[in-house]
Amino acid sequence: MSPARHKPATAEATYLWRIQYFRSAKGGTVFAPTAAFLKFSACVFSREARKVLQSILIKQTTIAAPAETSGLGLHTAVPVRVRLRPAPPDNGLVFVRTDLDDFEINASVECIAHCSYATTLMRTGVMLSTVEHLLAALRGLGVDNAYIEVDNLELPIMDGSADDFAAMILRAGVVEQPAARRALRVRRRVQIEQGDRRMSVEPHETWEIDCMIDFPHPLIGMQRLRFDALDPEAFLREIAPARTFGFTEEIEVLRRANLIRGGSLENAIVLTPAGMLNETPLRRADEFVRHKILDIIGDLALLGMPLLGLVRAERSGHLLHAALMSKLLRDDAAWEIVDMPVGAHLAVAS
Ligand SMILES: [Zn+2]
Repeated sequence: MSPARHKPATAEATYLWRIQYFRSAKGGTVFAPTAAFLKFSACVFSREARKVLQSILIKQTTIAAPAETSGLGLHTAVPVRVRLRPAPPDNGLVFVRTDLDDFEINASVECIAHCSYATTLMRTGVMLSTVEHLLAALRGLGVDNAYIEVDNLELPIMDGSADDFAAMILRAGVVEQPAARRALRVRRRVQIEQGDRRMSVEPHETWEIDCMIDFPHPLIGMQRLRFDALDPEAFLREIAPARTFGFTEEIEVLRRANLIRGGSLENAIVLTPAGMLNETPLRRADEFVRHKILDIIGDLALLGMPLLGLVRAERSGHLLHAALMSKLLRDDAAWEIVDMPVGAHLAVAS
């Protein structure tokens, strides 16, 4: 890639280039440009300027400084400490089991071991469970490269959402690195179906997720939301706070299977046949579909880079997310790796 491609050619583009960084309230450097600004710029800039903007490359990012948090594992109830460390360009997201001589497990599709109730990674017999909410926070906030130190076999559940992980990332700050961000561009539609569960990905200028869930429950019913997964601000506001949920009738089954030993009303919405056990209200009426989108972003982070494609999910779960990724990757003609253009957002606005 020629360095000239990084140089903006017009005053408008130079302006955009300069505001690609903004200082977060806590003083860290957070990745920009913001989607709102890009949508605004798509309206006010000339057609020529927009062409230039679309040719500017987005750079890879890592966190500016180490940051940590701790909590209990949802399924194992073991206490665990998580610490993020900066990583070089093209490193990707790599888990490090500090309790096992810093054994590394890549956040990658090849390491998926099983995915009932949570996504578990494994490499040569070493496991790491419930990775999806932390991965969603990293992918959702546009962090490409980081080491994730973990001192036990399961990530902490925190409050059942990705809020605490997002806060940890913002505390650390996010910085750009001297390498173009890569994206996995979908070239051909791929679909997977299991009964009435369906998931597909198709060519699209940006990364959007159109998600539908359908539970015969008075608090849920059918919920549907379409989300721009390349917009970190929207992720923070719309998706990160959505908590995981479960049904009382499932809970005994899961307990008998030795799962959700750390589960409580502090880290999940627990639904009874007519309502919920939690005394605090839902964070949003459609918190359930928002959490499903959170899970999709977290699981699809295992592709190692953001997608350029439209994901449609109906009644999907971790198993289907993994099956779709593996079917997509097996079909060489269905995808290619490209530099991520700023124009991915402009495409949404035009
Ligand atoms: Zn989840």
